[in-house]
Amino acid sequence: MNIKRNVLLNPGPATTTDTVKMAQVVPDICPREKEFAGMMKQLRADLLRVAHAPAEKFTSVLFCGSGTINIDICLNSLLPEGKKVLVVNNGAYSSRAVEVCQYYGLPHIDLKSSVFDQPDLDQVKKALDENPDVAVVYTTHHETGTGILNPIREIGALAHQHGAIFVVDTTSSLGMIPFDMVQDNVDFCMASAQKGLMAMTGLSFIIGNEAEIRKSKDYPKRSYYCNLYLQYDFFERTGEMHFTPPVQTIYATMQALKEYFEAGETEKFARHHRVIEAIHQGLADMGLREVIRRDIQSGLVASVLYPNDANWDFERVHDYCYEHGFTIYPGKISTTNTFRLCSLGTIDTPDIEAFFKVLKEAFEKNGIQIPAKYD
Ligand SMILES: *Cc1c(COP(=O)(O)O)cnc(C)c1O
Repeated sequence: MNIKRNVLLNPGPATTTDTVKMAQVVPDICPREKEFAGMMKQLRADLLRVAHAPAEKFTSVLFCGSGTINIDICLNSLLPEGKKVLVVNNGAYSSRAVEVCQYYGLPHIDLKSSVFDQPDLDQVKKALDENPDVAVVYTTHHETGTGILNPIREIGALAHQHGAIFVVDTTSSLGMIPFDMVQDNVDFCMASAQKGLMAMTGLSFIIGNEAEIRKSKDYPKRSYYCNLYLQYDFFERTGEMHFTPPVQTIYATMQALKEYFEAGETEKFARHHRVIEAIHQGLADMGLREVIRRDIQSGLVASVLYPNDANWDFERVHDYCYEHGFTIYPGKISTTNTFRLCSLGTIDTPDIEAFFKVLKEAFEKNGIQIPAKYD
C-alpha cells in the first residue's frame, strides 16, 4: 500500500506512521466481543503508563469524541453542588473551558490573564483565598493557541492546599514533553489519540483519581452522554464503553502505543525537541519573529508574527505549502496576527529542512521579502 505522506505542522491531528494507518484495516468485529474488551483493558492500562499515573490511585476512562469532549466531561461531572470552578485562563483552550462552564451554568471564576505570558501564581492564590467555595481548579498545560507552557505543578500545589481537585487539559502535551501525574499535583488530565500518541481522531480519554470519580457519583447530573461516573462505572462492570466505541481508531491507538513504548518516551521527547529547534532555526534564518519568549514555550508550537509586508497573504503561502505536502496553521490570538508551526507527529529534522525550502519558495513566488520585513 502506497499512501502519500503529508507533513502536518498544525497542532493535531498529527502525521502518523504507515503502520498506524494500516492498523485500522482489520476484519469486521462487533465491539461487544470479549476480544475487543480485552484490548480496551490493555489500552486503559497503557494510558496510565504514558501519564505516569500509578494504577493504585488512578484510572483512565475512554470516550468517543474529539478532545473537547474531555473538557466538557470533567467540568460538568466533577463539580459538587454549591461549589465553584476556578479557571486559570491565559489562552484559547482555557477560554473554551470557561465557555463550557457558561453553557452548563456552572458557578465559576474566569481568572483571565495575558495570552502572552504565564499566569501569575499570586493571583491564583489570591483568588483561592477569596473564594473558599472553589472545589475544582482548572487550567491548560500547554496553551496550544500560543505555545505557552503553564506552571501546573505550582498551580496544583495551590489547589491542593486549598482542598480543591486540579484538572488539567494536557491534550497538546501528553506524550510529547515530560509529565508526571503525581509529581505535577494533577488529579485529572486528558488527551485524544490524534495528538501526542500519533494515532487517529475520534478517541479521547481522561486519566483521573479513582476515588474522586467514585465521589462524583452523587454530584449533580448535568449531562447523560458526557457523564464521567456513568462511563467509568460501565467500564468497571463490563470492560466496555457504554455506547459504540470508535472501533478502527482504537486499533490504530493500540498500534501507536506499541510504537510509543518501543521508541521510549525519552527518545520521543528528544525528537520533538530537535524538530522545534529546527523550526526556530528556520524561522530565524528567514528573519521571521516569534511572539512568545523562548523560556516559557512548550517546545511544541512556534507562534510566528505576520511580516509587515504588503505582499503577505497567509492563505497564498498556506496553499503553496499545502500543494507541496506541508500543512501550516493560523494562530489563535485575537489581538495579533500569527501563524503556527508545530512539532507534533512522526516528523524529524529533514522534514523541517524540506519545509523551509518550500516556505522560501512560497515567499519568493508571492514577492514577500526575505528576510521578513517588520516595522
Ligand atoms: C486539540 C486540543 C483540544 C481538543 O480540540 P478538538 O478540536 O476537540 O480536538 C483541547 N485542548 C487543547 C489544549 C488542544 O490542543
